[in-house]
Amino acid sequence: MTLKLNSLNSSSDISDCNSRVLIIGGGVAGMSCALWLKQLGLLPEIIEKNASLGGQLQDIDRINRWVLGFKGLTSQELAQQYSNHIIAEDIPVIYNSKIVAIENTASGYQVYLQQNAENLDVLLCQAIVIATGARSIGSEVFCKTVGFNSLFFAGLIGCFPTDHLEQLESLRDKTVAVIGGGDNAHYTTHDVASVAVKTYLLIRSQPKSNKKIRNEVKFLIDRGRVIEYTSVQIIEFSQIEDKIELTLSSSNEVLTKIQVDRVFVRIGYAANSEFLLTLDNVKNIKTQTGGYIETDAERRTSIASVYAVGDVANLELQSVVTAIADGAIAARTIAKDIDKHEVCRC
Ligand SMILES: Cc1cc2nc3c(=O)[nH]c(=O)nc-3n(C[C@H](O)[C@H](O)[C@H](O)COP(=O)(O)OP(=O)(O)OC[C@H]3O[C@@H](n4cnc5c(N)ncnc54)[C@H](O)[C@@H]3O)c2cc1C
Repeated sequence: MTLKLNSLNSSSDISDCNSRVLIIGGGVAGMSCALWLKQLGLLPEIIEKNASLGGQLQDIDRINRWVLGFKGLTSQELAQQYSNHIIAEDIPVIYNSKIVAIENTASGYQVYLQQNAENLDVLLCQAIVIATGARSIGSEVFCKTVGFNSLFFAGLIGCFPTDHLEQLESLRDKTVAVIGGGDNAHYTTHDVASVAVKTYLLIRSQPKSNKKIRNEVKFLIDRGRVIEYTSVQIIEFSQIEDKIELTLSSSNEVLTKIQVDRVFVRIGYAANSEFLLTLDNVKNIKTQTGGYIETDAERRTSIASVYAVGDVANLELQSVVTAIADGAIAARTIAKDIDKHEVCRC
């Protein structure tokens, strides 16, 4: 395939590269970073692989109770507000794009973007911010377990984030299993148990959620509304008439079978950082378990002039407010580094 090479001038001419900062990922962390960079007099430009801004927030239809000043808004409504803000600020966004190469230049980086099969665009910039977020690993982990795939693709097993768009009411008087032991598994169990006739909480080791939601679920366990199994693994999923049968194996290898109408998988996340492995000059970036990018306190990565913000670099607390704060911290660091000519390698 022959690719046509264009020089991209979506926000400014290539000669402006001395203050251009490319942000990979248009979720809340990337948007926050872009806004702060603009206020600091730099030229942010967001590269988003999808057709809209907002990242994970776009998939969550529940009220977000954790963001100061937005009482009663769903995460989707928050995503819309944040996206409107970026558009109103005239911050350039390049949608449906993926980065196919990154080269070093005397004063920063030359980034090659592919927007469709035929066009290859090139952008010069002085710094790069990775803000590509994280994803649920439910289907990635269970895809090799017997029977999982057919039930998953039939929509009977739900994994974050898309199953959050389901109406709880559809679970009224049903029997449901939630797999996982962290905060999200507990929040889902609590929500589901408000309508389901019986809810199973299936935990591979021991509960790991915060105390408040754990106590709320414990209250339901004590009243028989939730049935908890700890130290169990699901070794098979099968369909028995209109029910899903789960075969559980405990540490002493005793097998238990339960039948439910619906399954929700809440077993954790991994960082969206794999794409870096295919790109020379950044593929050796330091990461930790789950692909989370290591940064210093000011959001610098192990690679000069490359920064990371939001869920992709935060194993500890993945949330809207930490992503917004990360974006601000990185923007300030970039402005400082550029001032000190630390970013410029000429
Ligand atoms: C079900 C669920 C409920 C949640 N509830 C809450 C809540 O109530 N309160 C709260 O504070 N937080 C909540 N969170 C967490 C919160 O949504 C995230 O912490 C936050 O959205 C992270 O923002 P981000 O910008 O770091 O990443 P993301 O939102 O994941 O955005 C990353 C963006 O990068 C893009 N991208 C990925 N790879 C590439 C690439 N190679 N090239 C270009 N673009 C790329 C993606 O398309 C996406 O737009 C919830 C999360 C989930 C899944």
